[in-house]
Amino acid sequence: MLNALSVDVEDYYQVLNFARGLPRSEWARQESRVVPNTRRLLALFAEHQVHATFFVLGCVAAQHPELVREIAAAGHEVGSHGMSHAVITSMTRAEFRAEARESKALLEDLSGQPVHGFRAPSFSIMEKTLWALDELLDAGYTYDSSIFPVRHPDYGMPSVGDVAHTIRSNGSHSLVELPMSVARCCGVAIPVSGGGYFRLLPWWLTRWGLNRIQKQRPFVFYLHPWETDQEQPNLRRFTSRAGAFRHYVGLKHTMPRLECLLREFKLGTIRDTLRAAGYPLNTQ
Ligand SMILES: [Zn+2]
Repeated sequence: MLNALSVDVEDYYQVLNFARGLPRSEWARQESRVVPNTRRLLALFAEHQVHATFFVLGCVAAQHPELVREIAAAGHEVGSHGMSHAVITSMTRAEFRAEARESKALLEDLSGQPVHGFRAPSFSIMEKTLWALDELLDAGYTYDSSIFPVRHPDYGMPSVGDVAHTIRSNGSHSLVELPMSVARCCGVAIPVSGGGYFRLLPWWLTRWGLNRIQKQRPFVFYLHPWETDQEQPNLRRFTSRAGAFRHYVGLKHTMPRLECLLREFKLGTIRDTLRAAGYPLNTQ
């Protein structure tokens, strides 16, 4: 079964985890490492002849336009991760609408390909921000992959379920939701589909969970370029102990485990995965 491989392209200092201590106004003073970190992933994916969906943050694209061109030229799918990395819960509907449209136009211009997919910063589409789906549909997106079907203090919406489905539709086209993947066992949701848990959980548990999911449906795996970077500047002082743990735990495991993931599972872009599994998807 073809499963989806996705990368949220942002720099290490742009994560929500540091937002309280490191305001946006300080970003320009940080050392940018997103280009070499993303290239590390591009080289690995090329070696394994795997294509992925790269949800690129608009402000990263504006700062490093050559990176978007490189991603597209290597045959990967380019999607949007918004413009500013502000979580949707902190935005007005008009602000989100502007970001959804501006990032799509910018990424289409740089990549030379239509942008179909959206991934919200910090999975911030949930019950109280469902209006964002209407804005994505209006902006011309054909799928969203932003909802975690779990209960979590910062995000999540269990009612969305695990299965990709058409979540919004108007007269001319529809928007498919591909929820983030969790393995379910004895009523417990096990987060095996990427991010910090990929570095924290033992590889055998991740592999077991992903195999369990793909018996029923494709899984969607996600990671960030900064998770491959053991040399990144230490920003612990800008977050809590728990926040620092989440960011820095097991960085040395990312690349070797990714090798295992790429060897053991069949992976591709989100669009190819949805198409292969026969999910409804506009072909425009
Ligand atoms: Zn992000």
